[in-house]
Amino acid sequence: RKGSVIITGASSGLGLATAKALAETGKWHVIMACRDFLKAERAAKSAGISKENYTVMHLDLASLDSVRQFVANFKQSGRPLDVLVCNAAVYQPTAKEPTFTADGIELSVGTNHLGHFLLSRLLLDDMKQSDYPSKRLIIVGSITGNTNTLAGNVPPKANLGDMRGLAGGLNGLNSSTMIDGGDFDGAKAYKDSKICNMLTMQEFHRRYHGETGITFASLYPGCIATTGLFREHIPLFRMLFPPFQKFITKGFVSEDESGKGLAQVVSDPSLTKSGVYWSWNKDSSSFENQLSEEASDLSKARKVWEISEKLVGLA
Ligand code: NDP
Repeated sequence: RKGSVIITGASSGLGLATAKALAETGKWHVIMACRDFLKAERAAKSAGISKENYTVMHLDLASLDSVRQFVANFKQSGRPLDVLVCNAAVYQPTAKEPTFTADGIELSVGTNHLGHFLLSRLLLDDMKQSDYPSKRLIIVGSITGNTNTLAGNVPPKANLGDMRGLAGGLNGLNSSTMIDGGDFDGAKAYKDSKICNMLTMQEFHRRYHGETGITFASLYPGCIATTGLFREHIPLFRMLFPPFQKFITKGFVSEDESGKGLAQVVSDPSLTKSGVYWSWNKDSSSFENQLSEEASDLSKARKVWEISEKLVGLA
């Protein structure tokens, strides 16, 4: 049978390019888990993904109810789950004030980390039940976890501190909206959320790889300077960022190329190692990258997991 893969945020950018790359092989059925149904249908069509290779299902990661509803709908569909790709994200580098999820949690961490945390916890059983030979749970990370790159060191740097803000629920009422308890900073909130993504992957690996055989992985897809992720940046930035990445840092990758990279992490028989953070060399070969100290701190991974369980209502 075909493999069955859920990709969150498959209506644009990396998620769409990955859906396309997998669908084109004829070996995958892609469940595009998206908040805007019509946009996702149109995106699939314009990417040329044929009807029998995808299904759009509604998922708004900024609402824990919506995550639970998505999981119920998916279970009801009777499809197996072989691979789950947590890809969707919001990035608000110019926001002066925080915004919030339906549950009153700061939006970047609420969407990028907590929505995905609940989703992957609730779908783990479905993955366990699948008879697919190589089951994988992939959480898209970012360069902010790489200390061996220049971009990984640009301020404001990610820092989870003692997680007092996270423990308080990031609600801006009786707790800070930032994980470390500091003042709101949209760019940092995004980076913090990506550290949580990479820590979550490692904690999944530690808790479940031995028992389930599922491969848990994260990756840095490269700088895909053209995607919607930068939609909230100032116009001058949006104009200069792609050529800057192409010619100065040379870290630029096209959406197509990055989609092929993520598709490898989903399906390549040689990328089955669990607990790994993948990156790519200039010649497109993949390698296991080093995470920053914070992004590989196992006691922090455990703490993020335990606090997150409480916030999403699992503990
Ligand atoms: P895009 O903005 O193009 O894609 C993000 C996707 O997430 C969109 O489809 C968006 O939906 C979806 N999304 C946002 N909020 C929600 C929500 N509440 N519920 C469901 N879906 C939601 O950005 P990219 O393709 O660049 O980003 C994909 C991943 O790659 C992210 O995890 C990002 O952190 C990571 N990444 C990207 C880099 C880059 O250079 N671009 C570098 C490093 C990592 P909609 O279409 O409705 O807006």
